[in-house]
Amino acid sequence: MHFWLRSYVLGFLMLSILPPDCQAAPVTLLYSERFLQHDAGSGHPDTPDRLATIVQQLKQHNTLNDQLRWPVFSAASRTDLLAVHQASYLDLLEAGQQQLSPTRPYLTLTTGDTVISKDSLAVARLASGAAMAGVDAVMQQQSKSAFALVRPPGHHATADRGMGFCIYNHVAVAARYAQKQYAVKKILIVDIDVHHGNGTQDIFAQDDSVFYFSAHQHPLYPRSGRPQETGLGKGKGYTMNIDIAPGSDESVLLAAIEKQLLPAMQGFQPELILVSAGLDTHQGDLLGGLNYSDAGYAAIARKVIGLADQYAQGRSVWVLEGGYVPANNAHAVESILQTLIVQ
Ligand SMILES: [Zn+2]
Repeated sequence: MHFWLRSYVLGFLMLSILPPDCQAAPVTLLYSERFLQHDAGSGHPDTPDRLATIVQQLKQHNTLNDQLRWPVFSAASRTDLLAVHQASYLDLLEAGQQQLSPTRPYLTLTTGDTVISKDSLAVARLASGAAMAGVDAVMQQQSKSAFALVRPPGHHATADRGMGFCIYNHVAVAARYAQKQYAVKKILIVDIDVHHGNGTQDIFAQDDSVFYFSAHQHPLYPRSGRPQETGLGKGKGYTMNIDIAPGSDESVLLAAIEKQLLPAMQGFQPELILVSAGLDTHQGDLLGGLNYSDAGYAAIARKVIGLADQYAQGRSVWVLEGGYVPANNAHAVESILQTLIVQ
């Protein structure tokens, strides 16, 4: 048999005997029902329903679901978290959890406004693990894109402070994991949440290996992220912040990507793109005042894919951040996934 024919037949046989999970699929989703068990208390905006509704809608959508792989994954270890967070902060969280009891089911962290309950730390560790598994999926070429559907969110958590519903900074943990495990030298983080990701900016402010881009509503919590904040020390020039006025649609973000981020990436040339996929920019959100449409999220995804294809062999890992109207989250995620699937 000719060599090429033998290779073809062997390749076909290998694809046939591999379990479906091992074959290349367009998008890897990282989700666990465990994420529904983080309880921030009655009336808190970070409800389990924000996430459950996304997954219910995806599972009902058969043509989309055929294009998704749902691998299992593990929680981030203490070592993984220590690549981003200070040991004293991890200890403070553990000590806080020890104080919980049936008569005291919730605790607000002394570092900010984050509420934890009995399952919160384990759930948040699993959420960081989901973002890391997304990195595995794209670096091992199981799919070009991955989307970690997680809660609680992460981008407000700094090295030593939980704040704004966030305990561990999942995107930051994933970035450090990609650098350590796969020797990725340059990573772009695109933050599309309505709030500035002060934690992510802070963690990488002095780092020239991670470029942080955020376009967020101003004024709004946590009030950081002014355009003049561009990084510190050797990280100067590796942070880019865009203010968006209340009431704006996605056109401001799309223009900023085109006119400011794309030229900056010609010099930076990221090998991996992580997206802090906050959906509280959606029109009608409970906490945000912007007016992004479902079509707008598809347009944003096309821009990210364009950058990923140009510099990063198509690799993008999306991690859910905010988004406080469950039905809106479901529509926005579907819109993004439809775009990632045809890339
Ligand atoms: Zn947010």
